[in-house]
Amino acid sequence: METVIAYIGLGANVGETADTLRRALEMLARREGVTVWRISQFLKTAPAGGPEDQPSYLNAAAELHTTLSPRELLAALQEIETALGRNRSRELRWGPRTCDLDILLYGDQDIDSPDLQIPHPRMHERRFVLEPLSQIAPNALHPRLGKTAAQLLADL
Ligand code: AMP
Repeated sequence: METVIAYIGLGANVGETADTLRRALEMLARREGVTVWRISQFLKTAPAGGPEDQPSYLNAAAELHTTLSPRELLAALQEIETALGRNRSRELRWGPRTCDLDILLYGDQDIDSPDLQIPHPRMHERRFVLEPLSQIAPNALHPRLGKTAAQLLADL
């Protein structure tokens, strides 16, 4: 099986956020077919969009080496979100959430289907994604824009 380098974004803004991110990474590391290779610092960021006066976020990025397919990886991330107490039916779009895990990049793949878009469609406009991603992988290439994480961050 081929091992692919993938990058994920992590965010939490409810409860013990650092603890939530740590637990999410631990759960990921225990998955068969996933190695957590590198983890950024946990960065405190102001919420973007959504209701006003929600608490600030803690964001991070991680580099994974994985034999899971993009959809298997998405399913694994969603399982972890659920295990960490996220209840999608009760949450507002861009509102507070226990844990949000997104696939940012998956090798050099460009996927555009209703349930899964890679690169993540908003990653290039979000400082809270590009800052931690640039810490661990400044040269990671956005396959559609042809720019690295560090270049995209500098463009903001
Ligand atoms: P969110 O509520 O922001 O976590 O969005 C979750 C929804 O986004 C799920 O229904 C996923 O199928 C979809 N989605 C599309 N592309 C991605 C991606 N690259 N990473 C994570 N979720 C994605």
